[in-house]
Amino acid sequence: MATEAYDQLLGIQDLDVHITQLEHRYAHNPARDAVAEVESQIAVNDAATAKVVDQQRELDARQKVLDDEVAAIEKRRSEIDAKLYDGSVSATKDLLALQEEAAMLLDRQRGVEDVEIEVMELLEPVLAELNTNIDAKAKLLNTLEERNADLERELADVESQLADTVAKREAAVEPIPVDLLAAYDELRVNLGGVAVARLKGKTCDGCHMELSAVAYDRAKKEPDDAVVHCDQCGRILIR
Ligand SMILES: [Zn+2]
Repeated sequence: MATEAYDQLLGIQDLDVHITQLEHRYAHNPARDAVAEVESQIAVNDAATAKVVDQQRELDARQKVLDDEVAAIEKRRSEIDAKLYDGSVSATKDLLALQEEAAMLLDRQRGVEDVEIEVMELLEPVLAELNTNIDAKAKLLNTLEERNADLERELADVESQLADTVAKREAAVEPIPVDLLAAYDELRVNLGGVAVARLKGKTCDGCHMELSAVAYDRAKKEPDDAVVHCDQCGRILIR
């Protein structure tokens, strides 16, 4: 193998390292984490809102019960009023009884209305919290949209670089003998991405081990076009 072919192989290795980095950047992109972070904030906000809505419903239900009670009391009071003034009841004892009931009902109504005010006071901070949550959610949704746009841009950038680098690799492997390329590809998988190493003195630049005397001798004597492997790690050696 001519020196030129070795350089080409090293060039392919650089492209492969770049492809691996781009694939990693695609799969583990900080822009993804940024999206996930906002999504988790939205989930927290949704859970808080659900709790507040439950409180609101409970207070609304209590208020409805009290409203109904006031309405029933008022209905009964106007019935009594009608009886007191339409002349249908004339006995003093009966009139007094009706007046007494009306007074009792009014008293009861005021009591219920006081409780209603208490419920409304409880409802106030709940509604305020609900509004705060709704505002926060709207902001979070805006942020999510921005983060998703960032992610989309980022991934599109990585994809285009990846397509570019893959195309360069396809062109670069063209002149490499099929057997050598197959050996290179297999070594890359088994050796963590680095299949080609320079021989520096007696040391393999891939595993940083010295070649055995026999292997070093052979590496020196083999013709230029022979493929020589490091006897320690198996990498293709550039002599
Ligand atoms: Zn080695």
